[in-house]
Amino acid sequence: MLPPGSTIGILGGGQLGRMMAVAAVQLGYKVIGFAPAGDNVAGDVCADFITAAWDDAAALAAFAGRCAVVTWEFENVPLGTVSAIPQHLLACPSRALEVAQDRLNEKNFAAEFGGTPAPYARVESPADFAAALTSIGTPGILKTARDGYDGKGQWRVRSALEAGGVPFPGVTCIYEGFVTYETEFSVILVRGRDGTIKFWDSTANLHEGGMLTQSILPAGALVEAQVPAARQLAAKVADTLGYVGVLTLEFFATREGPVFNEMAPRVHNSGHWTIEGAATSQFENHIRAICGLPLGGTATRFASIEMRNIVGEDALKAHAILNEPGEPHLHLYGKAEAREGRKMGHVTRVGHALK
Ligand code: AMP
Repeated sequence: MLPPGSTIGILGGGQLGRMMAVAAVQLGYKVIGFAPAGDNVAGDVCADFITAAWDDAAALAAFAGRCAVVTWEFENVPLGTVSAIPQHLLACPSRALEVAQDRLNEKNFAAEFGGTPAPYARVESPADFAAALTSIGTPGILKTARDGYDGKGQWRVRSALEAGGVPFPGVTCIYEGFVTYETEFSVILVRGRDGTIKFWDSTANLHEGGMLTQSILPAGALVEAQVPAARQLAAKVADTLGYVGVLTLEFFATREGPVFNEMAPRVHNSGHWTIEGAATSQFENHIRAICGLPLGGTATRFASIEMRNIVGEDALKAHAILNEPGEPHLHLYGKAEAREGRKMGHVTRVGHALK
């Protein structure tokens, strides 16, 4: 168990790191963040924040030299950065990042353990794209294999005719068949250093334009029926990777069963409700796991919960939410610029307490 007062290093500086750092500080740890220049809002709650390029070897060595354990809040931290950290400091094997950074890898990986992804094909060229359109058909989605998030780097293709208007982005892509689903859901688990796994309840997740807007509990009968199979896959993935910390797998609940979409080797937007809504939040359990502390319970505390993201300029008037009935829990991330489509905060509303 990492003693109180020890320093946790977090690679990445976004809101996930910020909420992780709050949990770490509450448990008596110090946090140092590391990320390239940007709106590193985790820095507001870190004892120190190192702003340097991912490949700045000297800065990375100085960062690692001050940490007792290192974790990440962003799955696109370059593998070269992670390999520059002395491996005994890494809370979780970097293989988890390697798999999750590439949509083709993660789908192959999940399929190996019995998961069912949407039909997909690797696309390296316009000719591959044409072949994928023939074999998989339309509608579908062309996605860059790497570096996409919140629906960025994705092109929906409703018909073969429309495919002609999709610019080939010139990087490795994946073409996926469009899944007809009832709802989306995620499985969020925490795995301790000793291999213990705990799951939070799965929310129904609503997206707009590829970005999560809302997570809702209860998630409904269809999701609840599919959670056991989805958890089984998530646990196999976590065990195989020797994962330590919070891991998220996203699914589509279809009439035919759960379809695996993607995994995030980190705390997740669809788990923000756990701060007020669960016995222990995803952020606190992530910190407990990487520090070798006992994991907290994950039980849901309320009969109903809704988490809604606050996006773009809505953040500028978000304090007005505090006038609303039902004691809404407001979280603002402290981002400097309320750009359109940018996650600026979230609000969680809970129903009556469960006994
Ligand atoms: P992703 O970045 O892969 O999580 O995609 C973002 C969102 O786009 C998903 O949460 C879905 O709402 C939607 N989406 C992505 N892929 C598919 C698919 N193959 N079929 C239907 N919807 C999809």
